[in-house]
Amino acid sequence: MEKILIIDDSVVQANFLKTILDSEYDVSVSNTAADGLEKAKTGDFSLILLDVIMPDMDGFALLKRLQEEVVVQQRSPVILITSLNDIENEERGLTLGAVDYITKPFHPVIVRARVHTHVKLYQYRAQIERQATVDQLTGVFNRRRYDTVSVKRWQDSIRMGIPFSICMFDIDKFKVYNDTFGHPAGDKVISAVANTASALLRRGTDFFARYGGEEFVALIMGSDAKSDYAHMQRVRQAVEELHIPHNPEVSPWVTVSIGGITVVPKVGDDYNTYLKLADAMLYDAKRLGRNRVIWTSDKMENWREK
Ligand code: GH3
Ligand code: MG
Ligand code: MG
Repeated sequence: MEKILIIDDSVVQANFLKTILDSEYDVSVSNTAADGLEKAKTGDFSLILLDVIMPDMDGFALLKRLQEEVVVQQRSPVILITSLNDIENEERGLTLGAVDYITKPFHPVIVRARVHTHVKLYQYRAQIERQATVDQLTGVFNRRRYDTVSVKRWQDSIRMGIPFSICMFDIDKFKVYNDTFGHPAGDKVISAVANTASALLRRGTDFFARYGGEEFVALIMGSDAKSDYAHMQRVRQAVEELHIPHNPEVSPWVTVSIGGITVVPKVGDDYNTYLKLADAMLYDAKRLGRNRVIWTSDKMENWREK
């Protein structure tokens, strides 16, 4: 059920609106602007219905704050509710970014129809955004999403002064796999490897994406080189333990090589410089025999398997 938030200081009005929508939506109610803002931030709502006149903060001011703090991130659309059915307020609300405007007293059929429309639009948009950021074959994030997230997290890490790990993965001898078992079988392997790795990189501070072809990238914030290296060993091992048979002339099972680097980035540090270093570690992992993790840090520490 899609979630809707009603923010209205009038308990009676809010509850009436809730009864209109209750059978089709999961409806929450806030009777103060402050509580509404709090709920909106944490709630992941498909639609917010906002009363314009409230004692602690008027709806326009709250709409502005919602725009700044919620709408940008969660993109929850806001419909304004008011008894002021004059043109200026309507104009002001829509200019501030409300998607629609409902006037009191409510006509249940009209309210429902407008809510349906905006929830549907929200769902379409969410679906399109998902498709634009998720890799179709594997279901993990795609390169495009990685491009956005890497820039943002690198900056966050600089601002917070915390470690940042960049980690490149590449499936070993995958050309041989395709040549032996065929491209569709290869696709299944890419998917299995992606899902195995991503299941082990599920924290809010982790990010995992398909970089392209049979290559993946992981970003980890706020940890340290030694534990990230150890964690990637577990990922490498988990892939090996899928026991997907490879061409026996190459290897008993499908495996991955992993290269990574941990840095505490400073203002002015270029992300791509470190990405290249992670790539160089991956190259070493290949050169030294594949199915291994090689890691370095900005403190000139090095770790390698085998
Ligand atoms: P190495 O161990 O050095 O990484 O050897 P490799 O054969 O994996 O390296 P190479 O980069 O030469 O080959 C990558 C192969 O991955 C070639 C390409 O056909 C295959 N590949 C890339 N993307 C896909 C895909 O989406 N599906 C399938 N089935 N194969 C893919
Ligand atoms: Mg490759
Ligand atoms: Mg490869």
